[in-house]
Amino acid sequence: MAVDVRLTGLTKRYGDFTAVDAIDLEVRQGEFFTMLGPSGSGKTTTLKMIAGFERPDAGTVELGGEDVSGLAPYARSVNTVFQDYALFPHMSVEENIEYGLTITKVPKAERVKRRAEALEMVRLEGHGNRKPSELSGGQRQRVALARAIVNRPRVLLLDEPLGALDLKLREQMQVELKQIQGEVGITFIYVTHDQDEALTMSDRIAVFNEGRIEQASSPRDLYEHPANEFVAGFVGISNAIERDGRKLTIRPEKIRIVRDGIPADGLITETGKVTEIAYVGMVTRVKVDLDKGGSVQAAVQNTESEAEPGGRVGEEVVVGWRPEHAVSIQGETSKSVQPEERET
Ligand code: ATP
Repeated sequence: MAVDVRLTGLTKRYGDFTAVDAIDLEVRQGEFFTMLGPSGSGKTTTLKMIAGFERPDAGTVELGGEDVSGLAPYARSVNTVFQDYALFPHMSVEENIEYGLTITKVPKAERVKRRAEALEMVRLEGHGNRKPSELSGGQRQRVALARAIVNRPRVLLLDEPLGALDLKLREQMQVELKQIQGEVGITFIYVTHDQDEALTMSDRIAVFNEGRIEQASSPRDLYEHPANEFVAGFVGISNAIERDGRKLTIRPEKIRIVRDGIPADGLITETGKVTEIAYVGMVTRVKVDLDKGGSVQAAVQNTESEAEPGGRVGEEVVVGWRPEHAVSIQGETSKSVQPEERET
């Protein structure tokens, strides 16, 4: 598939501090691409350089094969949706949506048609005459989205657009946003620090850490095959243990507490002692200190057949996992190994 956005060696410094450190990245046409990472890892700065709000100190931004690094924001075929909606309070929903088209002098008939389409797209038909203050948070965010979509940008940048919403609405909007993206076919680059949100919506995710990308791959690949300890720990709960000089990570749901009568065929088993048990609804989390060193957390399904799936604190247990679920990881993050490599 064609590449829509290409970042090459993209770098941003603030004084001595490097906020974005020589990033290379390709986002494909029509992709829902997420930048995930902790606060301060450089996601927003990268987004701003794609939009043109920040100038890179080095490297280039290409949109549809054209180097736009020197172009002003309005001259790039991108639109940005921010967390704080930034709707005009004195304008109606329709006027807000139409605003960008008025600026670019799109004829009235075309404006009316496109704004109606955009309203329908975000499921706000019949709300066009309301003021933003007469809408819920989720509805306002959808107006902000419609206002961006109506301009038909090549790429839509979204910076934590659901950050201000409560959890239920947020989860509902995640599904809606993904659907809308599929319908309009615009490339989305989405910034979040919420791993569940990233896993739910994205075709691919780039995990940021200290201005660098640790790994960029599909949600499944990221979760099942994290490249290093940072990714393993940031996306989901990771159990990192060292065996035979190798660092391994095993996801909690892949670890079983092996009991009498439960076959352990094909499993790697180890003995240990239960140190913590936490009931969390769907699963019980059981922490086991392993006799060979290190500890792991197992997520045991709370099926009705087991009254106490996790056992008791202090109990000696056998835990097991399939060999392919113990994933080999680098012990250090790429941040700590790459600077030397780049200098040589
Ligand atoms: P968050 O999830 O908190 O928004 P982020 O990953 O988007 O974080 P950025 O906003 O890109 O992070 O910031 C990256 C780093 O650059 C941070 O340490 C931040 O303090 C710093 N930074 C960002 N903008 C500026 C600026 N204008 N001047 C100085 N430092 C800045």
